[in-house]
Parts: sequence; C-alpha cells; structure tokens
Amino acid sequence: MKDVYDVVVIGSGLAGMTAANILGRSGYDVLLLEQHFQLGGLATTFKRRDGIIFDISLHGFPVGMIKSCRRYWNQSIADRIVQLPKIRFDNPQFKLETTFDRDDFTRILVDKFGIQRESVVAFFDKTRSMSHYDDQSLTTRELFAEFFPNRLDVVRLLMEPITYANGSTLDDPALTYGIVFSNFMSKGVYTFQGGTDVLIDMMASELTKNQVDIVKSSPVRKILVDNGKVEGVVIRPKNGGEITVRSKVVLSNANLKGTIFDMTGREHFSKSFVERAESVRLNNSSTQVYIAMKRGYVIDEEQCGDLLFTSTAPEFDSAKLLDRNITSRTFSFYYPKTRPNTDRCYVVSSTNAHYKDWDDSVPSEEYKNRKIDLINQTVTHLEKFVPDVRQNIDWTEAATPRTFARYTEHWGGASFGTKYEGLAISRGLNGELAGLFHAGSVGIIMSGWLGAVNYGVIAANDIDAFLLENKKTKN
Ligand SMILES: Cc1cc2nc3c(=O)[nH]c(=O)nc-3n(C[C@H](O)[C@H](O)[C@H](O)COP(=O)(O)OP(=O)(O)OC[C@H]3O[C@@H](n4cnc5c(N)ncnc54)[C@H](O)[C@@H]3O)c2cc1C
Repeated sequence: MKDVYDVVVIGSGLAGMTAANILGRSGYDVLLLEQHFQLGGLATTFKRRDGIIFDISLHGFPVGMIKSCRRYWNQSIADRIVQLPKIRFDNPQFKLETTFDRDDFTRILVDKFGIQRESVVAFFDKTRSMSHYDDQSLTTRELFAEFFPNRLDVVRLLMEPITYANGSTLDDPALTYGIVFSNFMSKGVYTFQGGTDVLIDMMASELTKNQVDIVKSSPVRKILVDNGKVEGVVIRPKNGGEITVRSKVVLSNANLKGTIFDMTGREHFSKSFVERAESVRLNNSSTQVYIAMKRGYVIDEEQCGDLLFTSTAPEFDSAKLLDRNITSRTFSFYYPKTRPNTDRCYVVSSTNAHYKDWDDSVPSEEYKNRKIDLINQTVTHLEKFVPDVRQNIDWTEAATPRTFARYTEHWGGASFGTKYEGLAISRGLNGELAGLFHAGSVGIIMSGWLGAVNYGVIAANDIDAFLLENKKTKN
C-alpha cells in the first residue's frame, strides 16, 4: 500500500471491483480496500470439509451481464455466462415451467392464464419503456391493476421472482419493478459457469493486471474530510494498528448509511441532506439454507430445473414473504455442470427476511434453535420435490440477516441496499463533499449482480470526469 492514491475504493463488492477495474485500466492509481478476508462482498462463496463449496448469491441475473462483463472486465469472464433454461413455479395458484423470457411469458399469460394478447403486449411495452426519470408516484400495485385487474395469480407470476431478486414490494415505485423485470424478460436468467469463486478470482487477476492495489482484511473506519473536500481514509487492519491513506477521491461500496453516518460523520453534510439520508429505508435481508448432497448423488435436473419459486401461501403477499413463519422459498439447484470437476449437487434455499427477527436481541440459544428449525423446515419443504433428499444430505448450514450483517457490515444485513429514495442520496454525495462517491446496491434498480456492476461503471465515469475537471482547474 502506498501513502497516496488517485482513488481509494472502500469495499470489493461487484460495484467496487468494477469501478476499481475501470479506473485502474484508465491509468489512475487505485487502492481497493476490503474489510473481509475474501473479495466479492455478497458475490462470494464459503467452503466446508471435503471440497464442499456454497455460492451465496449466484442464483440468476439478466443477460445484460454478458455485455457489461465483456466491456468492463474481459471476454473470458463474459464467455462463462450461460443461461439457466428451466425456471419453475410451484404454489397453490399454479405450477409451471418457463424459460423466463418475454415470448414464453406471453405464451403462458395468454394460453394458461387466459389474458388477452393485447393486454400482455401493452404491459410488456410499458415496462420496457420505463426508466428512472419516470413518474415515481405510480406503484407496482397500480401498474398491475391497470393491466391485469383482480388477477392475483398473474400478479404472483410477475411479481414473486422480482421480489426475490431485489426485495421490491407492490408499494414501491413501478419503475423499480419495470426496469428489473424487463432486464430479465429480454432473454431469461443467466448464471456464471464455474461458480462465484472462479468469477472473483478472474476479476482479481484483471484488477492486478490493471495495477489496482488490493488489500483485504482492511476495514476503513474513517473517511477524512477537510474544508468540504475528501482527503483520504483511516484503515484499522484486522491484525491491529491504524493506517492513513491520502486520496482526493473516495468511492464507497459499503452500505450507504454506514458511509454517511459511520465513516464520514453527519457534521460534514448539510442539514437537509442528513435529514433526507436519515429517512432512506433499508431494503430487507435474507435467510439462506445451504445443502450439499453426498458425492455422486444426482438430483433429477429434468424434475427440479434450475430455479424453483415455491410457496405454500394461498396468494402473493409481499409482507408474508418476509415473515419468519416461512411460506415461500426460492430453491437454486446446482448440478455438476455449474461446477465442472465436481461430483456434487447442491441446493441453496433463499427467503427474504426481517433483520429484527434475527438480530442481537434474540438470545443465543433461541437464535441457534431458530436456525435449526429453519434448516429442518427447508429440508421438509424440499422433500416435496426431491423425495429422498434427507437421507442423501452431506452438509447443511444456515445464514441469517445477522450473518449477512457480520460479513458485509451492511446495516440491517440488507441484501439489496436501500429502497428507491437511496439512489438520489447515493448520487448526491459528491455534491455535498467534493470527492466522495458511492456505488453499490441502492434504490432497488441498482442492486443485484447486474445493477451493482453497472453502478460501478457509472461511478467510475463520474470519478473520471471529476478528476479531469480538477486537473483542468489546477492547470
Ligand atoms: C441471499 C442473497 C441472494 C442474492 N441473490 C442474487 C441473485 O441471484 N442475483 C443477483 O443478481 N443478485 C443477488 N443478490 C444480490 C447481489 O448479491 C448484490 O446486490 C450485489 O452482489 C451487491 O454488490 P455491491 O457492489 O452492492 O456490494 P456488496 O456485495 O454489498 O459488497 C460491499 C463490500 O464492501 C465491504 N465493506 C463494507 N464496509 C467496509 C469497510 N468499512 N471497509 C472496507 N470494506 C467494507 C464489504 O465487506 C463487502 O465486501 C443476492 C443477495 C443475497 C444476500
């Protein structure tokens, strides 16, 4: 680590790494700091005995990731992105399989749900045309009411996967739904062949090639500010001590609220900005159950598919999706084709959750018991689709909102950053404090793998413009 950099990036989530890569490639001197001992943020894996490895957030992303990785990373990374062709739904209202794209959804909505083709076409056209400049007063609930009045089954088909993908609810601005839904509908759902660890290793190599200095286990505890301008960061490495690094630009990929209130300090922002930042709502967190099957045991791919949205709730209900009394789960099935060179199948079950149901106020014995219940109930639910699963399991483990908070330092263990109002605050930092930028899950539309990568690109461009402007002023 040097004493001075052009840019310091706090956090190696997909947004932080992408911004660091672009800026490094453009010739800037960049330091990437990560508090964890692994890179990737939520795009990560963990290992257990006998070669067991679990992916945390590799369940599916839109096709746009291919273009973004090709442009802002490299062709080899883009080449590993492949489609997940079998997406299934199983709930009391319907059971179906789809490739999760516009053509197939049109077929399903017309043939299976009996919706007029014109309404389906109009709905797709409307969502496709949405952008973040749109009117925010229209909610997703109102959008559905306009096109599919009183069709709760249609709402469930269209909404449940997106709620899983970014935590949005029927009461969020419709544009947050429309943008993300259309991204998926353009060509379906994609994954990274080889697993998240391979992706992150490839990204780390590219960062090194582009001369980015990467330092792990190095939490930033303070962003230094002088006279309305960013001056650098203070790091408290996990092995002790304190290091100050000087830089006129700091890009935080950490939680938006943590960036403002923990690392920078409210005293450096205007009163109205602080008030707006305080009122930004965090998005929800998640629980996950990780299941490794015994070596050689093969889950029937034909039967289970790649992603399975299952629910026992009679109807779609955003609030119920967060309830500790779980009725809805998304199962991701990983076959040896995802990780060539392995002879194991894995299942990861994800459910949206409230932090408060799992936070430090839950006594530790109760917390442990809740995790055991979570695992048991999940395996029972999975038996419906894989009847002999229980006797073929090698390892199970659970993560809770507390786990996500601990490993990423996200306030409330937020899986998808903040609600929509966070976007303006994230984009407004540099206007308040010269040289302070943010990129990472915010505002629903900037979350998920593709959202995070693309926000990293936007932040890198902003920083480039800022540094060029500063250079001009100096000259
Ligand atoms: C259970 C779950 C399932 C998901 N499934 C999917 C999916 O299928 N598809 C999809 O597209 N998205 C999915 N997501 C969302 C996706 O993983 C995230 O939106 C995306 O990875 C977030 O990237 P990010 O750049 O915002 O940063 P994050 O991944 O949030 O990373 C932030 C980084 O900053 C570091 N950091 C924080 N504070 C400091 C500090 N003070 N100093 C140094 N470093 C710091 C953290 O350790 C972390 O590495 C899922 C998320 C969860 C939780």
